[in-house]
Amino acid sequence: MELTKLKGVGPKTAEKLIHAGIAAVEDLPAIPPRRYVDRRRISPIADSKENDFVTVCAEVQSVSFRSGFAGRKAFASVKIADESGAMHAYFFGHPAKGARSLFFKGRRVLMGGAVKIVKDKTVLQHPEYSFPEDGDDGLESLKEIRPIYPNVRGFSQKQLRAFIQAACALVGDRLIDALPADEFGLDFPSLRESLQSIHYPAIDGDIDQLNENNAPGQRRMVFDELFFLQLGLRIRRDSFSRKMAPAAKAETGFMEKAIRRAAGFTLTADQETALAQIVEDLRAKRPMHRLLQGDVGSGKTIVALLAAARVAESGYQSALMAPTEVLALQHYRTIKPLAEKAGMRTGLLTGGIPAADADEICRRAQEGAVDLLIGTHALIGKRVEFLKLGLAIIDEQHRFGVLQRAKLRAKQTHPHVLVMSATPIPRTMAMTVFGDLDHSVIRSKPPGRLPVETKLLFGDTQEAYRIIADRVRQGEQAYIVYPLVAESDDPATRDATTMYKKLAGKHFPNFKVGLLHGRMKEKEKSEILGNFMDRKLDILVSTTVIEVGVDAPAATAMLIENAERFGLSQLHQLRGRIGRSDKPGICILSASGDIGEKAMRRLQALLDISDGFLIAEKDMDIRGPGDILGRRQHGLPVFRWASLARDMDMLHRARQAACDLLKSDPGLIKHPNIIRVLRHRWRSRMEFETIG
Ligand code: ADP
Ligand code: MG
Repeated sequence: MELTKLKGVGPKTAEKLIHAGIAAVEDLPAIPPRRYVDRRRISPIADSKENDFVTVCAEVQSVSFRSGFAGRKAFASVKIADESGAMHAYFFGHPAKGARSLFFKGRRVLMGGAVKIVKDKTVLQHPEYSFPEDGDDGLESLKEIRPIYPNVRGFSQKQLRAFIQAACALVGDRLIDALPADEFGLDFPSLRESLQSIHYPAIDGDIDQLNENNAPGQRRMVFDELFFLQLGLRIRRDSFSRKMAPAAKAETGFMEKAIRRAAGFTLTADQETALAQIVEDLRAKRPMHRLLQGDVGSGKTIVALLAAARVAESGYQSALMAPTEVLALQHYRTIKPLAEKAGMRTGLLTGGIPAADADEICRRAQEGAVDLLIGTHALIGKRVEFLKLGLAIIDEQHRFGVLQRAKLRAKQTHPHVLVMSATPIPRTMAMTVFGDLDHSVIRSKPPGRLPVETKLLFGDTQEAYRIIADRVRQGEQAYIVYPLVAESDDPATRDATTMYKKLAGKHFPNFKVGLLHGRMKEKEKSEILGNFMDRKLDILVSTTVIEVGVDAPAATAMLIENAERFGLSQLHQLRGRIGRSDKPGICILSASGDIGEKAMRRLQALLDISDGFLIAEKDMDIRGPGDILGRRQHGLPVFRWASLARDMDMLHRARQAACDLLKSDPGLIKHPNIIRVLRHRWRSRMEFETIG
């Protein structure tokens, strides 16, 4: 139903809501409160502590008002007091003018809001209020367990609450309650009851339970969300496995042998095992759906290349999709020479390459004249059509949305899919996104790698520069990394652009220094990275653009300035850029000023731990459970109700229920409502091909 059907919502407001991701009236009841505030109790003013939500009953003492002018907002300060003490209510802008006439000395008022301490004063900013002069009505209307919703830009809590309640009243009865609770003996309240208890908690409700997300209605919403996710994944997976995939040849061919020879090293046992698992999948007629995990530098690329070679020799094409241009280019540069020796035809397609070249490469892909096309998400652009895509490889998957993954796959009939990641997402979590994907792990690093020595320096970058100069004199290369591209308002944080000038001019006048950052043109970026890889540059001053995948083995030293500004996993990824040869690597973390406890723990962890899987655990530990999934980082779906940190148990139950349902009613013929809800839930998430 259109948003404008709601009372108080005109076209302008509707537009703002749509912008915030709320597209229809039905979406409003699906917004979970962030928390609940107890407004059933009136407390003495003297008991108010900062950040508490309080309701007080007091008398107006005085009002001071300043009218707005010259860009300054109008402001009203209302002093109120009860027997225990006094506090102030602040109003800004338009409400300040209203406050002036509403609050007069001696008037009794009920006020509720969050307590702030402003310049030693106890303050409620824009509190809600009512006047209990007409009996107890005012008091009663303030007494409730009040849901607080996530902030939506441009709307107050009051407005949001009004919209959500109006939406519940308008469409609450029409929402489809599709969860087959009875069928599976699940003891949950109905959707209607659940939403009622969530948006209008009973006055005698258990507020702690609500705040722990543990009320029956909330549990139901969690289950509901996970159930439809699992059901969708299951159906998608089943539909894939019913489709034919190109089957690869059984034997190792010339191309693979040539690539192995050209690589100049032998694969580690883990690499061989992973490759064997992949090849086995490639030979089956069911599409592969496999995650290849391996810490930074563990050598995933060569495994992928050999898999692509097998596919090429079986007469099919492969695509390798990287999350950034820099990384795509770098793959192309490492892979091309190896592939050439094997007679394997490669191509590069990124957003940054000239249109004529892009046309040419697209034409070749379409004619089947390229065996391995490397690129960024340009690969899933409309104009890219493969003649016979057999294998889609997605590198560093956590950078891609689920949607993009689905598109590359859907491009051709049904290629095999290999997802590569350095992020050690626990398998159970990966499962929530990929369904039941298969899994290979490279645990060991290539032989002969020396651990990277990691040092922490405070303030003193001179010593770090000395170490770097030493390395460069020995013919090695170095990275110097900054948290910012260019100068910012924050004088304490250094940036790559300013420091590049200083480093090139003052500290390292005799060395060749280059600058690389994300705001440069693609052409420029690839040129600079190319120069660094060809060792035409000694030192690369950079930002986190090099975080993912850049592989320049002669680089053995890295200085990370303002290291306190980076996340732990990010630092680990950065450090992974060095220590890629048999020379000992050194990583210097430079921190400045008072860096805070969490930052210190991150840096200490980096000094202590080199194993990526342990680092990831530590990272979760430091971030705390709320952020365990650092969703964006892992590319996991954003849940509204569920939290994977808390609801793993529920996830398993939901999965089982989804499984059982599909067993008893494979086409969901007996459950038309489930099909309707599934369609709705998955509409923008993936192409969803099977049902109906
Ligand atoms: P990642 O897993 O982070 O993608 P890469 O595939 O970029 O790692 O490999 C890191 C480096 O290790 C590359 O320079 C690669 O040539 C090298 N390498 C990979 N496998 C081996 C091996 N078995 N022996 C020696 N070096 C290897
Ligand atoms: Mg890689």
